[in-house]
Amino acid sequence: MECVGSILSSDKYELEKPLLVLEDKQQLTNYHGKGIDFFFAINNLDTRILTLFTESNDRNYAGCILVYDFKSFLSDEKIKEAIIWHEIGHLTYPAGKGNELDILSEIKCDMLAVKKAGMSGLEKLLHNIVSAGEKMNNSILINAANKRLEFLNNTTGKS
Ligand SMILES: [Zn+2]
Repeated sequence: MECVGSILSSDKYELEKPLLVLEDKQQLTNYHGKGIDFFFAINNLDTRILTLFTESNDRNYAGCILVYDFKSFLSDEKIKEAIIWHEIGHLTYPAGKGNELDILSEIKCDMLAVKKAGMSGLEKLLHNIVSAGEKMNNSILINAANKRLEFLNNTTGKS
C-alpha cells in the first residue's frame, strides 16, 4: 500500500511526541459519507475541510491528522499551519463524536490556531466550510462555521 504523508516534529509543534499526517481518502470518505468525494469534486469544494484528527495506533505518535489529499494539504502554507494547530488543539479539546459537533471545542482549537498560525488561513478555511455547507444544503454546518467566524472576528477585533 502506498503511504503519503509526513511526520510533524514534536519540537516545532510543542508536543511530547511527533504527530503523523497521512493521506487516507478511503477512511475520510467512509467517515463523511459515501459519495462525498464525488460531491466535492463536481462542486470544486476544498477537500482540506474534510481533515480529521484521530488517535494513532502507534504509541510513538501523539496522534494522526488524516487528510484527503496530501498535495492540496501542502498547497497553502498558512492554511496548512492553521489546520495543524487546530488539530493539535483536539489533543486537549476532543472533537464531538459522530454528527455531534462540539462547537466549544472547535472554537478553543480555532483560538490555538490563531495564536500559533495567524488568522488568515483559518478564516479562509471557515469560509470554505460555509461554501461547502451551502452546496450541501446543510444549515448545521453553515451555522457552526458562521459561529466560529463570528468568534474569530470578535476575538481578534478586540486586540
Ligand atoms: Zn476541529
